[in-house]
Amino acid sequence: MLYDVIVIGAGSMGMATGYYLAKSGKNVLMIDAFNPPHEQGSHHGETRIIRFAYGEGAGYVPFAKRAGELWKELEAQAKKQLFLQTGVINIGDASSLFIKNVVSSAEFYNLPIEPYSAAEAMEKWPGLALPDHFLTCFEPDAGVLRVEACIEAYKQLALAAGAVLHTNEKVQSITAGDTVFVQTEKGEYASKQLIVTAGAWATELLKTMDVSIPVTPTRKTFAWFEADESLYGEPQFPAYCFELNSGIYYGFPSIDGAGLKMGRHDGGDVVNPNEPLHPFDDKDAVDLQNFVSQFMPKQGDLKFGKTCKYAMTPDEHFIIDFLPEHHNVMVAAGFSGHGFKFSSAVGEALAELAIYGESKQDLALFNLSRFAE
Ligand SMILES: Cc1cc2nc3c(=O)[nH]c(=O)nc-3n(C[C@H](O)[C@H](O)[C@H](O)COP(=O)(O)OP(=O)(O)OC[C@H]3O[C@@H](n4cnc5c(N)ncnc54)[C@H](O)[C@@H]3O)c2cc1C
Repeated sequence: MLYDVIVIGAGSMGMATGYYLAKSGKNVLMIDAFNPPHEQGSHHGETRIIRFAYGEGAGYVPFAKRAGELWKELEAQAKKQLFLQTGVINIGDASSLFIKNVVSSAEFYNLPIEPYSAAEAMEKWPGLALPDHFLTCFEPDAGVLRVEACIEAYKQLALAAGAVLHTNEKVQSITAGDTVFVQTEKGEYASKQLIVTAGAWATELLKTMDVSIPVTPTRKTFAWFEADESLYGEPQFPAYCFELNSGIYYGFPSIDGAGLKMGRHDGGDVVNPNEPLHPFDDKDAVDLQNFVSQFMPKQGDLKFGKTCKYAMTPDEHFIIDFLPEHHNVMVAAGFSGHGFKFSSAVGEALAELAIYGESKQDLALFNLSRFAE
């Protein structure tokens, strides 16, 4: 059987891609080493922030807006709440590049934001404790996606649209050519086109076809704290991003009584994605506890922590491109800890690349040629 497209990795990006391809009438096979949604990659832990006034650069805004539209469509099709409009508060000192980018993204694209002084923010959200010189910028339209439910919704729709999904089947190697051959531990499959959305495993997988991409798997930690729901519960408290001189932290209000959740975005150890991650330990707890004691001092004790994998590029921008060596192979990887919110739009864009050779989205920021030097 010759498939139109094989998608390797049916996680955040791959499952959405499989859906948009199948919906367009393509004969698509998705293969995953586990059974998504699962806890082995980058997509577990209940929640992901979606922001539109983008601290990582205004170039992301149209893509984020398209992703937001597609999440609403997915919610309507799946008949499930996937997005919670909690708002997101961005916090940093006056020199924070992240805050500057949030403001300039909002100005350029006419997005609503509400700047508050530290005192005003603490009055609005009494769970916060901020130094006087901190700036805050609240984006009311931003919020939280229920990450596993989003992937499950795409999975059901993709299967209903006729996509084939092989789970618990790890791809071992790829042989490119006019027909692409994909070897797994269970068999060999052939297709006209290939899309690699293998997250933290993308680098090792592409190596099997002698292609090198600068994507590094990194261990990350996140944790939940007991929360006074009147201060930190959704809908009273927003999701948040802090850019501090000492680190970048983000988190979520207590949703469904789960507790105040937070994680650290910067840093983290480089890991082998095939080995179990070192479990959440006391050192991880102390770092998050210090942050929370300083800026959200009315929270309770640590409930539990978890680990997860980021797939980092050197400039922390994504890779979404054809491989220069192979006209029928696309890769979407290196989502560098901020990719989930885009996964709906990434899926649509990859399907467009496969079908038309180009996307309606401007993907120039994500091309591979930027690493050519
Ligand atoms: C703790 C944490 C917090 C985050 N917070 C946010 C946030 O608030 N907002 C946001 O936008 N983003 C956030 N992110 C980032 C976001 O979750 C990731 O960018 C996104 O999930 C990456 O999607 P992916 O499809 O590349 O990887 P994944 O979702 O991990 O999918 C990759 C899939 O490929 C499969 N695979 C790999 N190798 C093979 C193989 N050889 N054969 C078959 N299958 C294979 C894996 O099993 C997996 O299912 C966060 C990430 C983490 C870890």
